[in-house]
Amino acid sequence: AKKQGRNGYRFFEHAMNADVHQQMQLQQDLRKAIHNNELVLYYQPKLVAPAGPLTGIEALIRWQSPEHGFLTPDRFLPLAESSGLIVPIGNWVINEACRQMKVWFDQGHSDWSMAVNLSAVQLEHISLVDVVREALEEHELSPAHLVLEITESTAMRDAEASLKVLNKLAALGVSISIDDFGTGYSSLLYLKHLPANELKIDRGFITELAQGNDDEAIIQAIIALGKTLGMKIVAEGVETPEQQELLTRLGCDTLQGYLLGRPGPADMVSTITEQPERA
Ligand code: C2E
Ligand code: CA
Ligand code: CA
Ligand code: CA
Repeated sequence: AKKQGRNGYRFFEHAMNADVHQQMQLQQDLRKAIHNNELVLYYQPKLVAPAGPLTGIEALIRWQSPEHGFLTPDRFLPLAESSGLIVPIGNWVINEACRQMKVWFDQGHSDWSMAVNLSAVQLEHISLVDVVREALEEHELSPAHLVLEITESTAMRDAEASLKVLNKLAALGVSISIDDFGTGYSSLLYLKHLPANELKIDRGFITELAQGNDDEAIIQAIIALGKTLGMKIVAEGVETPEQQELLTRLGCDTLQGYLLGRPGPADMVSTITEQPERA
């Protein structure tokens, strides 16, 4: 860049400063977001294959920012992770998800479980175990109602520290789900040692799934592997009736995706379940 003409260099420097400035502003605003009640959880149903009943709900974070608008996680989670803000944000998510699960439990949905996503930074702190235990206690919720979703790469970043935390969480009685399965590079040996009871096949394999193609063979292999290890198999990103039918036939226990329910505010989940059965 330095060899460029004066104007070119200045332009580059200006553009970079603007970007850095924007990120700093976003980080400052995110720091206030919890306190100002700007974070929201959306909920997406997980249904027993092929079409229900509802067995679980996944909490997905959103940021309703007065300055930046309505943001999905891809817009602010990377920043939250690199700045360490993911720890207080993640703690808020765990508490809020437990609070909402308790509301549904009290409405009679005693067979639902709430799934919460975890980042690597959270999983490497032993204090996470206390945060989870205290949230369950505060909301008088049995650990059987909480599922923690981690990805292979999340658990692999500091495999030793993460495994220690995961074992303590499993000992509490919460379930561990391996999210985005098939996208990481964890060895089967490591997978065997994870105290997980659920495996979610990554959406990437579902998107182009058609009978007889490579994705069908891969999904079959993942299901066989998961079942050998005694895990429940979830398929995410189910968008078409063809995928729904094929995944059910291949042996998936639970389905999730736009076809079966989009993520939405808590009251939307209640609406889904109160609908009369389809003819
Ligand atoms: P994920 O855990 O793999 O969640 C699934 C993502 O796919 C969600 O995006 C969901 O809205 C979207 N999705 C669900 N069904 C379909 C479908 O049928 N088709 C398509 N195209 N997409 C579908 P979202 O809500 O934007 O979340 C993105 C990622 O952000 C999540 O991926 C998860 O890794 C992360 N995330 C979300 N909430 C939290 C959180 O509270 N804490 C942490 N640490 N990560 C979170
Ligand atoms: Ca997830
Ligand atoms: Ca996923
Ligand atoms: Ca994902």
